[in-house]
Amino acid sequence: MAIIKDDAVILRRLDYSETSQVLAVFTRMHGKVRLIAKGIKRSTKDKFAAGLDLLDIGHLTFSARNVRQEALATLTEWVQSQAGAALRDALDRLLAAQYAAFVAAELTEDWDPHPELYDGICDAIRALAEGARPVRTLVAFQRCLLQEIGSFPILDACVGCQRPTPAQGVLYFSSLDGGLLCRDCESARSEKLELNRNTLGCMINKGDDPDSAIDAFRVFDYHLTHLMGKPNPLLRMFLSAC
Ligand SMILES: [Zn+2]
Repeated sequence: MAIIKDDAVILRRLDYSETSQVLAVFTRMHGKVRLIAKGIKRSTKDKFAAGLDLLDIGHLTFSARNVRQEALATLTEWVQSQAGAALRDALDRLLAAQYAAFVAAELTEDWDPHPELYDGICDAIRALAEGARPVRTLVAFQRCLLQEIGSFPILDACVGCQRPTPAQGVLYFSSLDGGLLCRDCESARSEKLELNRNTLGCMINKGDDPDSAIDAFRVFDYHLTHLMGKPNPLLRMFLSAC
């Protein structure tokens, strides 16, 4: 039985029995881990002091029979350092953090470490708790996630003909092809979006107007939806709260 200590953020929480919950946490050094928190609903005063809620960040100790085994690990201690409740004052920022937690949980494998993605999730949650603009925060998070999972699209050349991004003319984005398409290459593809140049600028972190930020968010979300094989259930609520 391995006893493991790590930093973590709570991505998902599900009631398991009268007294226990199953958690999906994203840890800094061990990636996503599924844990059972026995007795968590009965007592909050000793080993799970200060509560344990969605989007909380903290330090945990858990025991696992074998690292990388499919079975649930067992949470033995949790010390919260930042409460997810700090996000509850503003619906758009809460939904933005929930959006990030959902895609991180969907697009990472158990026990696959991504310390930079861990930092990216925590940076997004902390920035949102401090009042950062949610769309911009999420675009930065989407960029970090796509880089970490190796699915960041090619945005400086056409994925069809490999020529550098043309300076003029309409551009397209294809999720299946994994990046930009020029006007010469787009006609052969059915899966594509027309891409505004200001949106592209924002996607590569070279633009700063709010309308482009929301368009960049939508294009990255479109790509993430393809990768997940399903839409993010938080998307519609998030967009209507912005
Ligand atoms: Zn092309």
